Amino acid sequence: MKYIIVTGGVISGLGKGITASSIGRLLKCRGFSVSAIKIDPYLNCDAGTMNPFEHGEVYVLEDGGEVDLDLGNYERFLDVSMTSAHNITTGKVYKEVIEKERKGAYLGSTVQIIPHVTDQIRFQIEHTAYESLADVVLVELGGTVGDIESMPFLEALRQLRNSVGRENCVVVHTTLIPIMGSVGEQKTKPTQHSVKELRSLGIEPDIIVGRGTKPMEPDVRKKVSLFCNVPVEAVVSAPDVSSIYEVPLVLEQEGLPRVLLRQLGLEPRADELDAWKKVVSRIVSPKGHTRIAIVGKYVDLRDSYLSHIEAFAHAGAEADAKVEIRWVEAEHLESGSASVRKALGDVDGILIPGGFGERGTQGKIAAIGLARTEKVPLLGICLGFQLSVIEFSRGVLGLEGASSTELDAATPHPVIDLLPEQRAISAMGGTMRLGSHPVLLSEGCLAARLYKSAAIDERHRHRYEVNPAYIERLEAAGMRFTGRSKDARRMEVLELSDHPFFVGCQFHPEFKSRPTNASRLHLGLVEAALMCRRAKVGEKSARRARTRAKSRT
Ligand code: GLN
Repeated sequence: MKYIIVTGGVISGLGKGITASSIGRLLKCRGFSVSAIKIDPYLNCDAGTMNPFEHGEVYVLEDGGEVDLDLGNYERFLDVSMTSAHNITTGKVYKEVIEKERKGAYLGSTVQIIPHVTDQIRFQIEHTAYESLADVVLVELGGTVGDIESMPFLEALRQLRNSVGRENCVVVHTTLIPIMGSVGEQKTKPTQHSVKELRSLGIEPDIIVGRGTKPMEPDVRKKVSLFCNVPVEAVVSAPDVSSIYEVPLVLEQEGLPRVLLRQLGLEPRADELDAWKKVVSRIVSPKGHTRIAIVGKYVDLRDSYLSHIEAFAHAGAEADAKVEIRWVEAEHLESGSASVRKALGDVDGILIPGGFGERGTQGKIAAIGLARTEKVPLLGICLGFQLSVIEFSRGVLGLEGASSTELDAATPHPVIDLLPEQRAISAMGGTMRLGSHPVLLSEGCLAARLYKSAAIDERHRHRYEVNPAYIERLEAAGMRFTGRSKDARRMEVLELSDHPFFVGCQFHPEFKSRPTNASRLHLGLVEAALMCRRAKVGEKSARRARTRAKSRT
């Protein structure tokens, strides 16, 4: 088993996860199987209870693990499916240690951070790595070296490296090379300090990845090499690029895989970067263009909708079109139809993503109303699916005050209601209907055509569902439930037939979208939006031709 530990210095948000995922992709292209472990040194047991505004999207795995969004990057870059064991948090580690202590497993000894907590960390890393059966496992430590929270993890990683040997464990330290002053001088001091900190904890980095807006100057590279005690070819410059999918190509050009493989004593088994290059060129230089609105309530922090952004990048690559995202704050649509028209009048498609709680839902319902009546392509996901049912109940069935009991406990028409098995649950963490569940699609429906299959598996994260008591009425009025759970009890997909693309799904297709295999429903929305745009452009030029003809006569 070979390990690559990825740490970060100077500031957070450097793109450590993307660096690590890109390293993984490069090794995969060289014929190795790669897995990843993300360490988050916070006390939450998982990301499930965290506000997306603070921490970005909660990513959902096949097994229902609610994890850090970096796991999404690993799954997308490595094209693998991981389990919740691949996200280690302080909370998860301490929970195990305390449970063991209560069981008397420490046989009377005083339970301490070293060795008990560090042993538990090592066990979770090594066990997960072993179970993954991968040739190489990336271990990314969240946060910044020097944080109090990361100390036990760094100590555990130091021990791990000592026990497996440096030839089996490479440390890649990602830092910032800021540019100062009017002459734009690149500064290495923050990097020097952060490497000093890392070394004081007993970990010498083997490779330094310098992030910044510009490529590192040759003399800056030499300086980092000299002061941080790494060979100059192990100083890697990773400047900003337009798409994250370009990062593996940047690291390849910098010669990073060669340095890594040499240190790990590995011989490349393949050279398959071309397929990745093709995907990247389709993502960065598409022919067509379409504009899709994401109407959400966390739009100020784009990371809250990261998997949608990526799913649209993948769908755009497949449809050969740039998907321009228009971010629309749902609450801004609540001041009347003029505000809805102003924000959405010129978009080709609308996505209503998942969410929780009442805030912003009236605005999302207004957007759905516009999409339904004006035939704008719409994809509603999870809460977006539920709100489509609510909008239809109010607008078509005339059920005044129809709502979800999540949003209005006293609604006269609870068209969306708590899942029966949720009624007795009071704890918040890990208790929703989570993870992969099969969905059966009606033959010939739009979703089945897009998936090219009548049986699919998609990931879920919800507590509420369509109330079975209203299904007959909804279907009689034209809302077709074309996807259902295996026992046919739960509604999973809805479609409107007299509409170019009006689809809702209770599951989250964005989590399984991959650069080479886009989410079918995001792709469906993009294709419908492209058709909508072409039709609009056609109408416009016909109108112009008519006016020209008139002025001539
Ligand atoms: N709040 C809704 C529910 O719990 C939708 C959840 C979501 O969009 N992920 O069912």
